[in-house]
Amino acid sequence: MELEKLLRKNIKNLKPYSSARDEFTGEALVYLDANENPFNSPYNRYPDPLQRKVKEKIANLKQTSVESIFLGNGSDEPIDLLIRAFCEPGEDNLIITDPTYGMFEVAANINNIEVRKVSLDEKYQLNADEFLKKANKNSKLAFLCSPNNPTGNSINKDSIVKIINEFEGLVILDEAYIDFVPEKSFLPNLKKYSNLVILQTFSKAWGMAGIRLGMAFASQEIIQVLNKIKYPYNLNVLVQQKALDLLNDNNQKDKWVKEILKEKKQLSKQLIELPFTIKVFPSDANFLLVEMHNARGIYDYLIENKIIVRDRSKVHLCENSLRITVGNKEENDILINALNELI
Ligand SMILES: *Cc1c(COP(=O)(O)O)cnc(C)c1O
Repeated sequence: MELEKLLRKNIKNLKPYSSARDEFTGEALVYLDANENPFNSPYNRYPDPLQRKVKEKIANLKQTSVESIFLGNGSDEPIDLLIRAFCEPGEDNLIITDPTYGMFEVAANINNIEVRKVSLDEKYQLNADEFLKKANKNSKLAFLCSPNNPTGNSINKDSIVKIINEFEGLVILDEAYIDFVPEKSFLPNLKKYSNLVILQTFSKAWGMAGIRLGMAFASQEIIQVLNKIKYPYNLNVLVQQKALDLLNDNNQKDKWVKEILKEKKQLSKQLIELPFTIKVFPSDANFLLVEMHNARGIYDYLIENKIIVRDRSKVHLCENSLRITVGNKEENDILINALNELI
C-alpha cells in the first residue's frame, strides 16, 4: 500500500502548524517561547503536544512503540482525522457494516463523504467478499468494529484478515471493547498489516469516559499523518496527568473488568428468565443486546422508573432490541427488580 497515493493532495502538501513546544523537548531553564503566564504553575504551561509520557506508559503496557500511538480527544478524534486526511469530500467513500457504531457514519456525513453499508448476516457476522465487493477506486477507508456495537459479538477473525489483506485503502478496526476479550485484539499483529489502524479507548474498561482519551495504533507513517493535522495541543494537562495516574495503577482496570464480566453473566441469566425476553445475544463486550416483545414499551416503562437503557429497535437487524450496559450489582438489581414488577 502506498500511503502517499491514498492521502488527499491538500493534506500531503500541508505545512503543519509548528508549536513552540514542538521545537524543544528537554527540560529548559526558563520557558520564554510561548507567551505563557509565569504564574499559576502547572496550568500556566501548554501541554506536551505529543503526550510523550502517556504514550511511553501505553507503549509499555501494550507492547508496542511510542511512534505507533496517536492519542486523541476520545476515539471520535482519530475517526474524524482519518476521514479528513484520506477522503476527498463529495468524491471518495468509506465502507461500514450495518449495524455498527454510529459515529463512523456521522463523522462521514459531517465531512460530506459517501457511506457504503454492508449488512451483517442474521448471526451478526460479516461476509468479507460482500464487503469487498462494495469497494470502488474511491473507497479509501473501511471501518470494522469488533466486538461490534450494538450487537456485542466479535467479528470473525478470518473475515477481518481477508478485508485487511484485500481492501485497497486503510482498514480501521475499532476495538473499544477489547479489554473484555483481550485475546482477540489485532494489536500484536499491527506490524504485519501496513494498512491497519486499531482504535481503543479509555472510555469503557478503563472507566475514564469523562476525560475523553482515545488511542489509535498504526504504522509510524499513518500516525505521522494524524499528528500533522490534529489540533496542536489536543490533549490538555489535566487529561494527561489523570491518564498517567491511572496507567500507574492498572490493576484497578483488571479488577473492574473481572467484576463486570461476572455481573454480565448474572444479568444475562436474569434477563433470559423474563417472560417478555425473546433472546439475549452473546456478548464479548460490557453490554447485552436483548430482544424483547414490545421493546419500545419496556424502554418507556424503564424511563418512567428513571432507568435508562438504549433503545435499538429502529436499528437494522436489531428490531425489538434494547442495548443494556452491565452496571454494578446494585444497578443491575434495580433494573431486574423493575422488570420483574412489570410481569
Ligand atoms: C464507546 C465506543 C467508543 C468510545 O468512544 P470515545 O470517543 O473514545 O469515548 C468507540 N467505539 C465504539 C464502537 C464504542 O462503542
